[in-house]
Amino acid sequence: MEYKSLFTAQKSFFASRQTKDPEFRKARLLELKKLLLDNEALLNEAIQKDFGKSDFETYITELSGIIHDIDYYVKNMHALCRPEKVSTNWLNLPGKSRIYTEPLGVTLVIGAWNYPYQLSLCPMVAAIAAGNCCIVKPSELPAHTMQLMAKLINTHFDPAYIHVVEGGVEETTALLQCPFDKIFFTGSTKVGKIVYQAAAQHLCPVTLELGGKSPAIVTANANLDVAAKRITWGKFLNAGQTCVAPDYILVEEQVRQELTDKIKAQVLKNDYKPGAAHYTQIINERNFDRLLALIDPAKVILGGNSDREKRFIAPTLLSEVTAQDAIMQEEIFGPLLPILSFTDYQRALEMVAEGAKPLSAYLFSDSKQEQNLFLERVSFGGGCINDVIIHLTNERLPFGGVGQSGMGSYHGPYGFDTFSHKKSVLYKATWGEPDLKFPPYTAAKRKWIRKLR
Ligand code: NAD
Repeated sequence: MEYKSLFTAQKSFFASRQTKDPEFRKARLLELKKLLLDNEALLNEAIQKDFGKSDFETYITELSGIIHDIDYYVKNMHALCRPEKVSTNWLNLPGKSRIYTEPLGVTLVIGAWNYPYQLSLCPMVAAIAAGNCCIVKPSELPAHTMQLMAKLINTHFDPAYIHVVEGGVEETTALLQCPFDKIFFTGSTKVGKIVYQAAAQHLCPVTLELGGKSPAIVTANANLDVAAKRITWGKFLNAGQTCVAPDYILVEEQVRQELTDKIKAQVLKNDYKPGAAHYTQIINERNFDRLLALIDPAKVILGGNSDREKRFIAPTLLSEVTAQDAIMQEEIFGPLLPILSFTDYQRALEMVAEGAKPLSAYLFSDSKQEQNLFLERVSFGGGCINDVIIHLTNERLPFGGVGQSGMGSYHGPYGFDTFSHKKSVLYKATWGEPDLKFPPYTAAKRKWIRKLR
């Protein structure tokens, strides 16, 4: 597989400086928006074929985020591109200081399968908003969505500007040989390490959006009705195949039974069944088998049933789960919800903090003291107090992981910065320069320098 000529064509396009013009960027973003909206029916159909996602969910969890980001960048383009004025330190007076935001060049976006449109196109939107060229390699697992993105984008846009490459491991490995100016990867921690190593060969900056086990902690001071409703929604959205889904529940023992009963009631009320508009399929047989192997039948208190042909696994609650169980050793990424309990809140926080830093963490509690302790003790990418998942819908909040769950962030202004270089420039006046930094280095000059800095 040879991508050198595509890469070189994008290098030349970038060198033509067309992408530096904010008006060019806005025009392309609006074209992309029109392309997506004009083809919404096809986009819905493709994802329905891939894993049974309904039009409603496709809009709220995929397309709305992309459209919203486009609108944000179009509206704020000039403010985002404007050089930033910062003050100048005494030693450099007379002078003025500016920060110029410039595009990086040719960028590579590698997407994951679980939100195939959003995870490939939101980073691409940020890349082109910031004035870069972009090659996008969506996940190959949802084949229909990958093919459709390639067809729409590749027939509409100049490949020297943006281009979608179809393929899996072989194609991604070949792409990674090119000396990109930025790589943005969404996927597993395992593959993130491969991408990071490949990028190191070219000293290419990398953003890694990875996964992990995101806890939902519920204390006796929580509104249990709200907690049950929101956790159930967030866990079983996309059949649990969401990087920021609550992976497991850590509940205070005295309210464990009450919370469990409320979640059970909520699951039954929501009536998750094969073909329901609010319940997707498991992406493929490999994941279907992986998930079934994580279910310990002795611990199932609801669900546990499945249908291989429909790639359906019912929302499954597991109780009496311990930190040693198989289900607690890896990110679940499916509709299985283990419930663990604690009696000592501080010890529970320590348990979370001792593991790999999660992509997200959620606390349900109305106690200010418990909220503060949670924020102080646990490091995580981002999260919510008294809700799950929805922090990523606010583009004023950077979205990204920390430690094993990733590095770097995006959405809104953070996406723009992720695909930009901040160039610092000091404008020096040609008059009035004190003699301080020039030889001879005297004791008096040293005294002044130490004072002025
Ligand atoms: P994955 O790591 O298997 O694949 C991601 C991408 O890497 C795909 O495009 C794939 O083609 C490519 N790839 C796979 N193996 C490769 C290899 N050996 N060399 C080069 N490229 C390779 O991940 P996935 O199964 O698509 O997604 C699931 C994971 O992604 C979960 O861990 C989930 O938490 C994480 N995720 C994170 C976010 C986030 O925003 N942080 C969002 C969605 C998913």
